[in-house]
Amino acid sequence: MIKPPPLRNDCFALPAGTHWTPVDEALAALRDRLQPVTAEEILPLDLALGRVLAADVSAQRSNPPLPNTAVDGYGFAGPIPDGAQALPLVQGRSAAGIPFDGTVPAGLAIRVLTGAALPTGVDTVILEEDVTCDGSQIAFHGPLKKGANARRAGEDVAEKDVILRQGRVVTPADLALAAATGVSELSVRQQLRVGILSTGDELVEAGQPAGNGQIYDANRPMLRALLLQMGFDAVDLGRVGDDRDALEVRLDSAATEVDVILTSGGASAGDEDHVSALLQEKGAIQHWRIALKPGRPLALGMWQGTPVFGLPGNPVAALVCTLIFARPALGLMAGAGWSEPQGFLVPAGFEKRKKSGRREYLRARVRQGRVEVFASEGSGRISGLSWAEGLVEINDAAIHIKAGDMVRFIPYSSFAL
Ligand code: AMP
Ligand code: MG
Repeated sequence: MIKPPPLRNDCFALPAGTHWTPVDEALAALRDRLQPVTAEEILPLDLALGRVLAADVSAQRSNPPLPNTAVDGYGFAGPIPDGAQALPLVQGRSAAGIPFDGTVPAGLAIRVLTGAALPTGVDTVILEEDVTCDGSQIAFHGPLKKGANARRAGEDVAEKDVILRQGRVVTPADLALAAATGVSELSVRQQLRVGILSTGDELVEAGQPAGNGQIYDANRPMLRALLLQMGFDAVDLGRVGDDRDALEVRLDSAATEVDVILTSGGASAGDEDHVSALLQEKGAIQHWRIALKPGRPLALGMWQGTPVFGLPGNPVAALVCTLIFARPALGLMAGAGWSEPQGFLVPAGFEKRKKSGRREYLRARVRQGRVEVFASEGSGRISGLSWAEGLVEINDAAIHIKAGDMVRFIPYSSFAL
């Protein structure tokens, strides 16, 4: 399996001179610079769910492959004129999987069962409920159009039609479509391996005793779950303290194991912000000053050819940055192309003032047709993340949202959660 070339070290560079980069510009930069990094493989259908298609898929066979009947009843040559009709029956029948071999002469009818191939001479079917039958002939009322209750060969899908496009994430329905059209294996991409690393001297593992000044690592379980739900292979890289050497060792081994690394914490320019300091010293880093709340700081860098998304430590900001920046970027690297989350315009059930020129995402949910936002915007309020059922996106230009104004609500499900 050949792999695409690695990303360039300067792939995260932003144009010089921009002080605060608008969210859309930052997203456009990621979209331009990133490319698929995963190798291709062939998998049988039952292993392909959730994988990204590496190539277009064509039908090997038409669906349905032959003309057949959509109902239980009697088949004959149509059309049938208005009024009472009587047709003698041909001996035998056509059932699903056991077709009738002979020809049905014009003016005669034959018993057919749902899914059965239409015998030669038959193109029209009447429902058995609409017929009286004495064993040798049937009586019913016309009219009946030619082709009634019958399915044409290939009316759903014709042989060689493209049924699924490259970059699509395989769904259960796609597996039905592939199987029905004679496709038994799919060319897919290997899952993108995404490493998750928490940083901070204050962090302890859930379940361990926590001393004064210590807090539980909330980001790692959250990020791992986010990545799993988005269909990536989430690799737990554990936790490191605020220690540059330990971080370096961990990044060195991670760079050989995963396709991309998400760190949380230590991403700004403070004394104990070792992720950005280390990338600065020994890797390639770009500090993205994005006009976004919550979300600062976001550090994007390369460590030995592996992209590193240095997420903020605050769980709220870490989640927002993951959904807004990492999700589409990882999707692109996984071969699924760039995707924008589906949002819905819903009247605001809140009032809010904000600075112009900055995008804001608030923890939100919809009740009685209105968007509610969480009582506090504090970025340490993890309970609000759990309370929310999505995010409301407040435009860069907006300064005053009044109750009843239409706002864009993006349910968590739009991020594949
Ligand atoms: P930092 O970005 O490292 O300055 O961290 C910002 C804030 O997020 C601090 O209050 C940290 O204690 C907190 N924080 C950092 N990492 C985590 C984590 N994994 N879980 C919970 N809180 C964190
Ligand atoms: Mg820290």
